[in-house]
Amino acid sequence: MDKTLIGEYLGTTEEYMPGEGTYAEDGRIYAAVLGEKILDKENHRVSVKGKPMPELTPGQVVFGEVQSARKNMVTVIVSRIEGLEEQIEVKTGLYVSNIANKYVEKVEDFFGIGDLVKARVIKVEQDLIDIETKGDFGVVKAFCKRCRNPLLKTGEMDVECPNCKHKEKRKLAADYGNVISL
Ligand SMILES: [Zn+2]
Repeated sequence: MDKTLIGEYLGTTEEYMPGEGTYAEDGRIYAAVLGEKILDKENHRVSVKGKPMPELTPGQVVFGEVQSARKNMVTVIVSRIEGLEEQIEVKTGLYVSNIANKYVEKVEDFFGIGDLVKARVIKVEQDLIDIETKGDFGVVKAFCKRCRNPLLKTGEMDVECPNCKHKEKRKLAADYGNVISL
């Protein structure tokens, strides 16, 4: 019984039929879920039996990466729940009103694509999951919008690129910069 990771290469579509828990792309089969690889040699089928993923519930502290930031919402792909080892991949939404206690006009002024965020889950409704970054939550690692270098904190909401000296704003977490990799 082999453990697979999401996206792990399993074989070609000439060798196997892509079964449950897999997907095929350009003739190659990959694991779509984390779990056990099962090779059905008789039917030439490869599948992955997924482990049940931990589910997000309100109150949890989560870590994720900013996928987009525009208009009134930041989209964050959550990859970890504080206190749990399992990696997940869940799309969540951070609405402008849930960013900070003070008024935020444009979300793109406070988040950058690829930034790492620490947030709290506030609402779970089917496929809609809301998170907030009020209080001590926010960006824990930010990257320069010009050169992608990690930014250094210089003020409550100020960060600066040590490489190109670009100054940017973020809704920073209280423990900005003090973060393990996701
Ligand atoms: Zn820079």
